[in-house]
Amino acid sequence: MLKIALSKGRIFNETLPLLAQAGIEPIEDPETSRKLILNTNQAEVKLVVIRATDVPTYVEYGATDVGVAGKDVLLEHGGEGLYEPVDLQIARCRLMVAAPINAPLPRGRLRIATKYVNTTQRYYAEKGEQVEVIKLYGSMELAPLVGLADRIVDVVDTGNTLRANGLQAIELIAEISSRLIVNKAIMKMKSKQINQLIQQLQLAVNKTHSHS
Ligand code: AMP
Repeated sequence: MLKIALSKGRIFNETLPLLAQAGIEPIEDPETSRKLILNTNQAEVKLVVIRATDVPTYVEYGATDVGVAGKDVLLEHGGEGLYEPVDLQIARCRLMVAAPINAPLPRGRLRIATKYVNTTQRYYAEKGEQVEVIKLYGSMELAPLVGLADRIVDVVDTGNTLRANGLQAIELIAEISSRLIVNKAIMKMKSKQINQLIQQLQLAVNKTHSHS
């Protein structure tokens, strides 16, 4: 049995064609089915639908053997107990610091609102800057508009969301894409099955990008 953890939406939709090239196709549609464990055309392979930020945790504890997670989520989780063998090159974006356009440099400690608390603390610690990090669970762009924070750290794709709220990206923290992750201990126990999946997914990624 091989359990693959995926989150609904963008990651699921963009991983599906890659899995199909590896010969794995779900029998049920996660958008219409309420089931969280989906059968596939291969009796030995199941897809497990999980919240994006929970995927590394499920794989770390071996509740699912492998998973697909954004690099932003992996940086925040820390990647303990995980291999990251394939960059699937999907759901690409950038983790950035953003600030209000034309805002004066605030006096004292910068206040940064983000859901990426660990990554943000690490980033500013490496720069040697003392900042106050405020944990939010969504709509980070709102925080500077109402005076909760001077800056935000969030993932940016087109930048439209920032612009619509009078913000601009000012520093790049990391280039983000989704990765195949594997539980380190399970990698040893199911090496044949997992190595085959790794090879097939890497081939599918190479093929996709040689056409574009
Ligand atoms: P943007 O295209 O920059 O306006 O992005 C819109 C919003 O979508 C951002 O604020 C992010 O929260 C989210 N977003 C964009 N790209 C990704 C991604 N690859 N993964 C997760 N969230 C994303």
